[in-house]
Amino acid sequence: MNRRKFIKLGGLASLPLILESCKGKDISLESDYPIKVESLHTIGHKLTSGFDFSRFPTENLSTEILIVGGGIAGFSALTKCKGKDRILVEASSKPGGTSSYATFKEIIFSQGAHYDVEYPNFYGEDVLKHLEELKIVRFDSILDKWEFVEKEYLIAPDKESITYYEKRIVEDPLNITEKEKEFSALMKSYFGKLPLPTRLIPEELHHLNQINFKEFLNQKGLNEELLSKSLDYQFIDDYGEGMEGVSALAGIHYFACRPYFDENPQTFSPPEGNYYFVRKMLQHNHDQQVLLNSFVYKIEKNKNEYQTYVWDEMEEKTRIISSKKIIYTGKKHALKFIYPDLQFQHSIDYAPWMVLNFVLPDIGISFTKNYWQNDVIGEPGFMGFVDSRAQFDVESSFRNITAYYCLKKEERKNLLEIFKDPKAIVESARGIIEKYQGIRMNNIIEVQIKLMGHAMPIPRPGYLLQDLNEVKSDPDFIFAGVDNHRLPLLLDAMDSGLHIKID
Ligand SMILES: Cc1cc2nc3c(=O)[nH]c(=O)nc-3n(C[C@H](O)[C@H](O)[C@H](O)COP(=O)(O)OP(=O)(O)OC[C@H]3O[C@@H](n4cnc5c(N)ncnc54)[C@H](O)[C@@H]3O)c2cc1C
Repeated sequence: MNRRKFIKLGGLASLPLILESCKGKDISLESDYPIKVESLHTIGHKLTSGFDFSRFPTENLSTEILIVGGGIAGFSALTKCKGKDRILVEASSKPGGTSSYATFKEIIFSQGAHYDVEYPNFYGEDVLKHLEELKIVRFDSILDKWEFVEKEYLIAPDKESITYYEKRIVEDPLNITEKEKEFSALMKSYFGKLPLPTRLIPEELHHLNQINFKEFLNQKGLNEELLSKSLDYQFIDDYGEGMEGVSALAGIHYFACRPYFDENPQTFSPPEGNYYFVRKMLQHNHDQQVLLNSFVYKIEKNKNEYQTYVWDEMEEKTRIISSKKIIYTGKKHALKFIYPDLQFQHSIDYAPWMVLNFVLPDIGISFTKNYWQNDVIGEPGFMGFVDSRAQFDVESSFRNITAYYCLKKEERKNLLEIFKDPKAIVESARGIIEKYQGIRMNNIIEVQIKLMGHAMPIPRPGYLLQDLNEVKSDPDFIFAGVDNHRLPLLLDAMDSGLHIKID
């Protein structure tokens, strides 16, 4: 969830505190608040279950370029094709994909990706220029660095994050191990060499893509139980798997892509999370044609033209969109059903995620300090929670606590159970939050849950530094999206859409 700030902010390095008073409290099992569950599962199921789309009316549209998927990659592809005739189709009722949002009355909150961190000078020019064009960042030539324009969304350093580990509260997950200094020194030695987007990683480091992070640590003689525990937590938190499941390159990138150990890079988290970036891209592409509730279920190619079958879930009809090119940012594993004629090698594993937004009344006065990011190590699947109270300084009658779960891929089928009966998971998450925060969440107003079966690609050894566009059989079918062998991060998603070749 958050790239940590490893330098000490002072005062908190490791408090031998734990909320004993909260331990053992009964978890209330009554739920008299509404629970809303959002998932593309039902619509995705239509693809695999032989649903007969032909029974419903059809309508024909045509465009030069069809963009599939309205996440960060889809919208940056829309920008890349500015001036051309283009349509973007998105399966969900809201844009944003894994960087989308939810609302309750006047408040908006993140339902997935919720932050980014300031960008160093050695990052790719294309993405930085695009962020500048969107007026999200500007270059301060006196300080010689990129800064976020809307500073009110920077997280106050003293409220930024806290980690709960067994009976301790620590500043960041690395504080649980005595090997912290040695490990930090090793990671620091890579600083400045690991940019975003990842396609710019220099060749001298490519060999690190071939081994997993655990093997890398063993080679460096850094094998220690608590270090492993901390790293497993942190990699699951950002990459969906622990250190044996991710490449050494992805793992080192996590720690060395910014000066986390020497400086204090600023964290930017608007109320709506990374949907902020999508919103800016939408404004930038005001001439766009974006069709929501539009799920692509079949692609055919006749001579030089594609016929894409798009199911409109609201209107219960199919739009057949003909186009010369397709930019596909949807999940690649689904193409075997959607476009079986396309030949390409695909061996990407995805981590399932689940996000729970608890809407609470904001009582105004708080006797305990609130932190934006609350990491929790040691609760299976539960990664932690974000508290809107420490996120931004606006008057609101509501407070939002967003809890994150990352599941193992074998547990993906359990999402179906949650879809059918969400109460159990809500009460479980509530119990964990109460236990660590020392509060009773008696007056929950509403809970919104988003289930994502294939939420993020896992950067296993060999995964990075490839491009499906170089190995596919069809020149006019263009891949973008983080699962085109990128890290599951905003700038890699954005670059994947900007970097496509389109003439
Ligand atoms: C829980 C979670 C937290 C995260 N937190 C952060 C964070 O804080 N910071 C960060 O930088 N990154 C974070 N990420 C990573 C995030 O996924 C990327 O930053 C980025 O948003 C990915 O964008 P994308 O466009 O590549 O993919 P997606 O966001 O997955 O977008 C793909 C879109 O395609 C649509 N689609 C798929 N199939 C079809 C179809 N057949 N027809 C029509 N539409 C289709 C989907 O509905 C979706 O909207 C997080 C990811 C998750 C899951």
